Amino acid sequence: MRKPILAGNWKMFKTVSQALSFVEHLQDLAEDAPQQVDTVICAPFTSIYALNQLLEDSSIKLAAQNLHQAEEGAYTGEVSALMIKDVGCTYVIIGHSERRQYFGETDDSVNQKVHAAFKHGLLPIICVGEDLDQRNQGITKQLVEEQVRAALSAVKADDVPRLVIAYEPIWAIGTGKTATAQDANEVCAHIRQVVGDMYGKEKGDLVRIQYGGSVKPENIEELMLQPDIDGALVGGASLDPGSFAKLLKGA
Ligand code: PGA
Repeated sequence: MRKPILAGNWKMFKTVSQALSFVEHLQDLAEDAPQQVDTVICAPFTSIYALNQLLEDSSIKLAAQNLHQAEEGAYTGEVSALMIKDVGCTYVIIGHSERRQYFGETDDSVNQKVHAAFKHGLLPIICVGEDLDQRNQGITKQLVEEQVRAALSAVKADDVPRLVIAYEPIWAIGTGKTATAQDANEVCAHIRQVVGDMYGKEKGDLVRIQYGGSVKPENIEELMLQPDIDGALVGGASLDPGSFAKLLKGA
């Protein structure tokens, strides 16, 4: 049985004091939140250290939103897996479509980052998904398959169960448009099949696959009922503690 995973991707929002106040509110609101859901906050780098102090005894885990593939070096402005692990992260988002679109992230750099994450004991949340044009061309599954195969190139079978893959159709991110639960499930099922094809069905069955793209308290339950959707990666609706607490209830 796969444990559901709800991750809030804060993107470039919240100062340290706003981040800390969010968590304090969330802890009040979600005291009785189901422990059967892994809860993750993907915070800006600047807030992670302080959040980790506050979350010491909490089941809420932290994620970074990106990393650099090198361990250290002359890469001004970058942060490595070693540093992210050191500051208290359990997970790291890799290859979010905004990184691919605005910061030149490629399937190849995504693959290198996945290797760097595993090397330092971080669990990658690998993002894949098509844009509207690609969806209209009917090449969604093919494209997502290519992204998954490239991201996992030379990844060891033993690491596969620790992976999270987030299927995020680009046209659904921040737009209020969601894929129907059935459509989202169909692509997630295909991703699972691809991983199964690469590593054997047993491993494919262990990988957790999230849906992301305008997930809200109103639609999370329907998405979570789908057999191949194991959680959600949520942007906008994760910024408010009340909304996040409702997402947790629905997950
Ligand atoms: P959204 O963002 O929930 O605001 O659509 C999702 C994401 O980018 O991870």
